[in-house]
Amino acid sequence: MKINEDIWPDERAVLESPHRLEYVRRLVKPKGCVFCSASKAKASAESLVIFKSQSMMVVLNKYPYNNGHILVTPRRHVADFEKLTEKELRAFTQLVKESLKILKKVYSPDGFNMGMNLGKVAGAGIPAHLHHHIIPRWGGDTNFFPLIGKTKLVVETSEQSYNQLRPYFAKLEKKGVI
Ligand SMILES: [Zn+2]
Repeated sequence: MKINEDIWPDERAVLESPHRLEYVRRLVKPKGCVFCSASKAKASAESLVIFKSQSMMVVLNKYPYNNGHILVTPRRHVADFEKLTEKELRAFTQLVKESLKILKKVYSPDGFNMGMNLGKVAGAGIPAHLHHHIIPRWGGDTNFFPLIGKTKLVVETSEQSYNQLRPYFAKLEKKGVI
C-alpha cells in the first residue's frame, strides 16, 4: 500500500493496540487544512477537538506517539509563530500551561516532550498551520517499533483519550480564561 507522503509526511503509521486489525491509515486527501476544519467542528471523539476558546484550541493528534499526545493550536490559519498577536500569544502560553496540568492529572506521566516543528524541512506534518505538540512520557515507554517499523504501538484509542481529557478541558472552557 502506498502511503501518500504529501499528506502526513512525518507522521508514523499507528497501531492502536485494542483495534490492531482495524488499523487504517487515511489515504484520502483531506479537503483544505485539517486544523481549520477542526476549528469549525464541535468537540468530539470524531473531530478530535477537546478544547476551544475564541482564539485557541486543543486537538488530539490523529497519529499519537504516546497516550495523551495533544496539539495546542491557534484557531486562525497561521504558519509563523512570530505572526501570532500578543493576545493570541498570551492565550497560547496559558493553554499550554493548563494542558500540562490536565495531562499530569489524567496520565501522571514522568515527563513531557513538547515543541513546534516550523516548516516542512523541520519536520512539520502540516506546515501551513502552526501547532504545538505536547507528548506525555513515561519511563520505559520507548520501544523499538518507531525505529524499525515506522510504527508506534499506542495503548489508548483516540476515543478513550477524548473521554479521559474532555471533562477537564470542558471545565477550562467554562472558566473562560483563555
Ligand atoms: Zn488552517
